[in-house]
Amino acid sequence: MAQTSGQTTFQTKGNSGAEKYANFNWDELGFDLVPTDYMYVMKCCEEENFSHGNLVPYGNIEMSPSAGILNYGQGLFEGLKAYRKEDGCDVLLFRPEQNAQRMKRGAERLCMPSPSVEQFVEAVKQTVLANKHWVPPPGKGSLYIRPLLFGSGPHLGVGPAPEYTFLIYVVPVGNYHKGLLNLVVEDKFHRATPGGTGGIKAVTNYSPVYKVVTQAKAKGFSDVLFLDALTGKNIEEVSACNIFIVKGNVISTPATHGTILPGITRKSIIEIALSFGYQVEERVIPVEDLLEADELFCTGTAVVVTPVTSVTCHNKRVEYKIGVEMVSQKIHVMLTGIQTGRIEDKMGWTVEVD
Ligand SMILES: *Cc1c(COP(=O)(O)O)cnc(C)c1O
Repeated sequence: MAQTSGQTTFQTKGNSGAEKYANFNWDELGFDLVPTDYMYVMKCCEEENFSHGNLVPYGNIEMSPSAGILNYGQGLFEGLKAYRKEDGCDVLLFRPEQNAQRMKRGAERLCMPSPSVEQFVEAVKQTVLANKHWVPPPGKGSLYIRPLLFGSGPHLGVGPAPEYTFLIYVVPVGNYHKGLLNLVVEDKFHRATPGGTGGIKAVTNYSPVYKVVTQAKAKGFSDVLFLDALTGKNIEEVSACNIFIVKGNVISTPATHGTILPGITRKSIIEIALSFGYQVEERVIPVEDLLEADELFCTGTAVVVTPVTSVTCHNKRVEYKIGVEMVSQKIHVMLTGIQTGRIEDKMGWTVEVD
């Protein structure tokens, strides 16, 4: 894939940029990193506001060894997707202002300045537009957009960095057909604690669970279901996605009180489920409720809506029915229909890039 290395692509941009699609085998699109053409960079000092950002060629960035992000993990990430509509021309974003607002809340928690909602959305649009020929053809996947906000200035003492960088890069990704999820309930390690940073998209949220997730995968599970750290009795979420349970006409998901990441997919699914006439509960969900559930599914930008086929807790395995008549399937069709413009967006969630 020599022609897709960041620099080469940038040099050939003059020709390829005019083409509708980048020279790429879209049928082989997975979840690997594919270098694209441009990234967006905006910097600002502590106590200041972000003002001028630029598109620059995609590539490595330079930082002081004493940058806040490298030493003390002062950073946030976001994730959202752009889909090409069925006409193959227009590109849609899904609720980008929600990501902007979540980044603002996280920035406040980590003592960082953050771009305004308008700056964030505008920067996302510019980045997608500049890389438009990397938005996969309809049905082949989406352009994953990764905004970052981090302390880039040098600082040795423990405390907020003197300079911050807001950066957006994009990667085309395939439809995440990892199939079905076999979860294992984790009762020793926790993903989040009350008062901690589990409720924001801090860059430090994932590496603490690498060990337990790696061990679970080695045993054949697809991911880990975490319990609340205080009582160890209630389910919270999977390492990188939220969880829902279905019982009859009731769809439940753990309430977010700081230890669960408030997913935008989660929030959207609650609204879709209500519009379908389901009763939706955001509540404490004891592990025992899993045993009686009709159906379980996970949600997030990456997994979209993925059914859970089994949950293992203390060597006890519970299996769930899987089929086309599932609630999760119905919700998946509606959500992806809105995201790709196939179904009319009565919610006002999609934003056209142009
Ligand atoms: C990002 C994330 C999610 C999903 O959030 P979406 O906005 O739906 O993509 C869920 N859990 C964790 C821990 C996350 O980091």
